[in-house]
Amino acid sequence: MKQIVVISGKGGTGKTTLTACFAALSKNKIICDCDVDAADLYLLLGPDIMHEENFTGSKVALIDPEKCSECGECVKACRFDAIIDLEIDPVKCEGCGVCVYLCPEKAIVMNNRVDGTIFLSDTSYGPFFYARLNAGSGNSGKLVTEIRKKAFQKASDMKSELILIDGSPGIGCPVIASISGTDLALIVIEPTLSGEHDLLRIAGLTEHFKIPTLVCINKFDINEDISNKIENICNEKKIPVVGKIPYDPIVTRAMIEKKTVIEFTDRPVKEQIQNIWKNIYEKLSG
Ligand code: SF4
Ligand code: SF4
Repeated sequence: MKQIVVISGKGGTGKTTLTACFAALSKNKIICDCDVDAADLYLLLGPDIMHEENFTGSKVALIDPEKCSECGECVKACRFDAIIDLEIDPVKCEGCGVCVYLCPEKAIVMNNRVDGTIFLSDTSYGPFFYARLNAGSGNSGKLVTEIRKKAFQKASDMKSELILIDGSPGIGCPVIASISGTDLALIVIEPTLSGEHDLLRIAGLTEHFKIPTLVCINKFDINEDISNKIENICNEKKIPVVGKIPYDPIVTRAMIEKKTVIEFTDRPVKEQIQNIWKNIYEKLSG
């Protein structure tokens, strides 16, 4: 079983659009959306939810009023002002556990907090895991790890050949959780002013984790000078460019219709994406 992750330096580069196309082009795989802070792959895959479960990534304090002597030590100690009238405000509580440690009556316990929901769904392209993080929850890295664990288990059970991951953008904790242990990372980059910088940052990350990396330049023709610069950087860093996709408004139309480009059109952009998938698959198999 191989794991491919599609990543980018920032959101909105076409990463999810391409992942959806790869889902349509590949066989015998599990798909997962690890871009948990902006999960939108489900919009293109039209999932039927088969199972959902709570994600409990953090802790929240709870006072037992039966045991509390109202000494006020916890109120003084809480740096987040989360204890008001001897009740914990779950939104303000950061789960640090200081109040539990200091309470002389052992009246405070830490409980699991529900930070989001993980969904296993069925799509016409295969099983698909995605998640919804609750507002204000900051555990996206842990949630990505949880989704990937579930996807791996499912792939093992089904003897799938591939796990296709829509990774988190950037270089923070969720993207590290998205790429760790994968067999190949595809960086999707657009030829914009920040594109060069984004490429260097994210390629530095995959290099650090020793993950074989490929690059795809999306909308390469909106600025061919920067596209050429990006190709030069890739050549210098020995990162293969597996394809360049021209700008085509049909891609946006497909998104609006909630379809993958593969099923929506027969314009040349479809063939470009098919070729990119073929190149990726050859690299993965080779
Ligand atoms: S420290 Fe413990 S006993 Fe004191 S007010 Fe807080 S919960 Fe009550
Ligand atoms: S766990 Fe930390 S943040 Fe939460 S109420 Fe206790 S001291 Fe405050």
